[in-house]
Amino acid sequence: MVQENYREVEEKVLRACERCGRDRREVTLIAVSKTKPVRMIQEAVEAGAVVFGENKVQELCEKYELLPKELHWHMIGHLQRNKVKYVVDKAELIHSVDSFRLAEEISKEAGKKNVQAGILIEVNVAEEESKFGVAVKDTEELIRSISGLPNICIYGLMTIAPYVEDPEENRPIFRSLAKLAVDIKKKNIDNVRMDVLSMGMTGDYEVAIEEGATMVRVGTGIFGGRN
Ligand SMILES: *Cc1c(COP(=O)(O)O)cnc(C)c1O
Repeated sequence: MVQENYREVEEKVLRACERCGRDRREVTLIAVSKTKPVRMIQEAVEAGAVVFGENKVQELCEKYELLPKELHWHMIGHLQRNKVKYVVDKAELIHSVDSFRLAEEISKEAGKKNVQAGILIEVNVAEEESKFGVAVKDTEELIRSISGLPNICIYGLMTIAPYVEDPEENRPIFRSLAKLAVDIKKKNIDNVRMDVLSMGMTGDYEVAIEEGATMVRVGTGIFGGRN
């Protein structure tokens, strides 16, 4: 089942790229394996998955230990500062940085482990009260402050769009995030690349790709529903 699902999502990613004239290699499909067992991850690997997203530190660390080292792990969920030390050398990218204090902790722990941490800034484009993420208007200022920290590189932006029935409703959100990234990239801030846009989930990843996503995070579409 997982293998079929993965191939189907992969096919839809490819078709979305073709529709908007993008190279398939511009988009990374992240298989969001949170709450799902190692056995299902292995099935996804057999279908070609190499990048996995988790939202809990302990779960990411456990799966990291159990699975082959060739796989890539991304931390996509809210991260507490006291847990940074466990993931900073395991997660290739942390998608969910929304405060200077968290970035400062990541920088410190990356320094101790002698690694360069890659991060994305989580932006609350939809301005939903329940969500994490920095407001659009405060994003540049946050990035400027983080860019001065050692052992950290800001690769781009991430957003979680609202759950909607019709994915078209989220198109303006994806477009806003893409525009924000372009605006910030133009400022040429040190340690800020701004070429990653992590946006789009099971319900709306095709629209996100059309709007410039370079990473889509698909859980349910690959592994089925979660409890
Ligand atoms: C769970 C999760 C996803 C995947 O959601 P699906 O709708 O199951 O594809 C993507 N991004 C984040 C940050 C998540 O926590």
